[in-house]
Amino acid sequence: MSPPQSPSRQPYRGRFAPSPTGPLHFGSLVAAVGSYLDARANKGTWLVRMEDLDRPRTVVGAADTILRTLEALGMAWDGEIVYQSTRDEAYRAALDQLKKTKDLVYPCACSRREIADSAVTGIDGPVYPGTCRKGLLAGRAARAERVLTRGIKIEFTDTIQGKVAHNLERQIGDFVLKRADGPYAYQLAVVVDDAAQGITDIVRGADLLDSTPRQIYLQQLLALKTPRYAHLPVAVNVIGEKLSKQTLAPPVDGTSPAIVLNAALAFLGQDVAEDCAADDTASFWKYAIAHWDPARVPRARAIHAPSE
Ligand code: GLU
Repeated sequence: MSPPQSPSRQPYRGRFAPSPTGPLHFGSLVAAVGSYLDARANKGTWLVRMEDLDRPRTVVGAADTILRTLEALGMAWDGEIVYQSTRDEAYRAALDQLKKTKDLVYPCACSRREIADSAVTGIDGPVYPGTCRKGLLAGRAARAERVLTRGIKIEFTDTIQGKVAHNLERQIGDFVLKRADGPYAYQLAVVVDDAAQGITDIVRGADLLDSTPRQIYLQQLLALKTPRYAHLPVAVNVIGEKLSKQTLAPPVDGTSPAIVLNAALAFLGQDVAEDCAADDTASFWKYAIAHWDPARVPRARAIHAPSE
């Protein structure tokens, strides 16, 4: 998240990248509002990318429902929507580049169960024990492709959450770039797409903070620029679960936009637009953009959603 730009700075390009697994809920709305406000306050571009890479989880019609809700909330995106389901060629090219020029990718035959049985738990699930690093055991067929993390340490400063440092080998392990069930992994796709779309600033939920060092590592391997990162607190329910379709978060009601938008604004530590009629999105955004102060966003990974 950035202070207003000096003229010499590269023009701001931000994005909102929902997974169309259901309608927009308060949690995803917060990411949309935070990224939109930061882009507009910096006179930047705001793109929308549909992360429909995981086809079984993608719900038919959900992408359109999300877009109609953004429209109802007065959030106008720039340019064409990019759908990850159309981008396999670009992901394949990046994976090939890593295989050819760096020899850092290897096939892995391990099942989830085998990994869980032999791994230590890291910051994002089991740390891959490295079973297939030296080649597949006789008679085993490759299921996934992993990238080597030997000796890799990544450190970065998040504009909201502060310094994050990971020892990738010890805390994450060699991670998957192409999954056993076929699709390219989120970590690879997001890096390829952010670079292709020229994203300079990533504002998203702090549930992805622990993914960021993996993404920075891939950017380095692929000789891509690392954007600035700002991870917003994630909205959780009373028992601390992230709002999602699985936790039955209700869809955002676009019929009284300023009410739901003010709730997101308050969640992000901003003053609400008090004198704004419920359906007056133009006045809401004028106020919210003019008063956006990234320094007031709470430095927390998770906060209870307002109705919880
Ligand atoms: N598609 C991811 C999600 O909905 C967000 C990815 C990102 O912003 O990098 O959680």
